[in-house]
Amino acid sequence: MNRWYPIFLCLGWLHAGVGQAEFEPLRERMVRRQLRDRDIHNKEVLQAMGDVPRHLFVPEQYHSRAYEDRPLPIGEGQTISQPYMVAYMTQVIRPEPGDKVLEIGTGSGYQAAILAELVQEVYSIEIVESLGSQASDRLKSLGYTNVRIRVGDGYHGWPEEAPFDAIVVTAGAEEIPLPLIDQLADGGRLVIPVGPHSGVRELLLLTKKEGKVRTESLMSVRFVPFTREGG
Ligand code: SAH
Repeated sequence: MNRWYPIFLCLGWLHAGVGQAEFEPLRERMVRRQLRDRDIHNKEVLQAMGDVPRHLFVPEQYHSRAYEDRPLPIGEGQTISQPYMVAYMTQVIRPEPGDKVLEIGTGSGYQAAILAELVQEVYSIEIVESLGSQASDRLKSLGYTNVRIRVGDGYHGWPEEAPFDAIVVTAGAEEIPLPLIDQLADGGRLVIPVGPHSGVRELLLLTKKEGKVRTESLMSVRFVPFTREGG
């Protein structure tokens, strides 16, 4: 072995360590100002948002901007949602440790990582193949073993794994996909942005109880569109 190798190895570790530590104050400030000072009060959600290294979910040129109060490009014309929106959608589904959760729109895998910190099993579907496979590699390299990703049209949900305690749709749909309502467990929660194509949409929360579905409108939002296979 090259005698310089151990030294390079140490320098590499040092560099990686310093690189990570640099983002901690940014992440703490994000949690305080963008989440806690607004209306994110679920302690576990705040903890997860403070633990997951969001910069590792965006392209390298955006690392320094990963903790800003805005969505960022992740390639293929898609975006990672604003931190507040991720925290809000997570809080609103009231995640419990034993829950099985389905996400539609894996994107970078960030929302899936936040969910994976809080619940037992996460299933996530992404329609763009390259994004789905990158997210899968990223989540594996970060040590998440409770997330499964599938490439395909999330409109149909994941019937083999249904029912789900909660479903999070992170792309803006023109209508609520009926298979997703069917795949919701009794007492299940579904959060989804719905509205006309390319416009402002309403973030809806659906709750299923004894076969009945209650719908609440939460706020106006903007999301990249929910696309369908084959057009
Ligand atoms: N949750 C993501 C952000 C997603 S942006 C994150 O944390 O980074 C919305 C994603 O939904 C995009 O990646 C887009 O490709 C995907 N998408 C759009 N329509 C879809 C569909 N029908 N099925 C699955 N994924 C879809």
